[in-house]
Amino acid sequence: MRCPICGGAFDETLIRDLGTVTQGHNWQLHAGHCPDHGWFQAEVISRPPREIFAVNKPFGAAREVVLDGKTQYSFPTAFNDLNPSERRNVVNPMDPSLWAVKKVYSIKPSSS
Ligand SMILES: [Zn+2]
Repeated sequence: MRCPICGGAFDETLIRDLGTVTQGHNWQLHAGHCPDHGWFQAEVISRPPREIFAVNKPFGAAREVVLDGKTQYSFPTAFNDLNPSERRNVVNPMDPSLWAVKKVYSIKPSSS
């Protein structure tokens, strides 16, 4: 997972196993921190996430992000754009191309 706002790499990532839900599907919560845009997280239940959420801390509450004057809480991934039969055919839930968000904002990371 990369920052859904700038597409940059996270400086901190965490994965929490939430156990087995149904039919042996493993449920994981992935969180990552962008040095410029804060924490984000996504749920993986044997498939890539359809959205990445902005959160106030790892495994915490959703937070709002204002981008281009619009308030957003989540960012749809490339996986969300697939049609249902394409989604069923996904073999690797960790495929980074499926986690990519549709729109990368032109906000430049501050150089400090
Ligand atoms: Zn960022």
